[in-house]
Amino acid sequence: MIKVLRLGHRAGRDDRISTHVGLTARQWGADEIVYSGQHDSSMMQSVEDIVERWGGDFTVRYTEEWKKEIRDFEGLKFHLTMYGERIDDKIAEINDDLDEKDLMIIVGAEKVPRWVYTHVDLNISVGNQPHSEIAALAVFMDRVTEIKDSFEGAEIEVEPSEDRKLTEKK
Ligand code: SAM
Repeated sequence: MIKVLRLGHRAGRDDRISTHVGLTARQWGADEIVYSGQHDSSMMQSVEDIVERWGGDFTVRYTEEWKKEIRDFEGLKFHLTMYGERIDDKIAEINDDLDEKDLMIIVGAEKVPRWVYTHVDLNISVGNQPHSEIAALAVFMDRVTEIKDSFEGAEIEVEPSEDRKLTEKK
């Protein structure tokens, strides 16, 4: 089971990024995204609309209790931050440890509280420069799992093509 925790969502300012964090998590096979920060039903609805049309059982949830979410999670917890240990130095160890364990991946928006750094198994950087939670999540997930290419119950699917936009209605 893979859960992504998106901390510190700011309604309005982070809408597209938070939506894309959710869609990225889903594309790489996460089961759930949990958002904290400001409650924003329209941003969450955008992710749910995609799931409805494009399938799968990815779920979207909001919590105010993000500390509890981290504390209660039974599995390995990785926080993605530019200040963390280098992904290339740690990825073999991470994959050995993961085995069949559940995985929580935490990404921030604004400044992430110090508490997070000390309550995870590892703080991991994808390069030590500031960039984006979407990019960090995609790179990290690609190293620990695979791109998911079929989603059960999809109403619509892409037929990969060399030169056209082909979709199939189910
Ligand atoms: N100063 C922040 C940090 O700690 O990484 C950058 C803030 S950035 C706008 C928002 C989120 O993107 C961060 O909380 C982190 O999860 C992710 N992020 C940005 N750059 C990253 C990097 N180089 N490696 C891993 N995650 C990164």
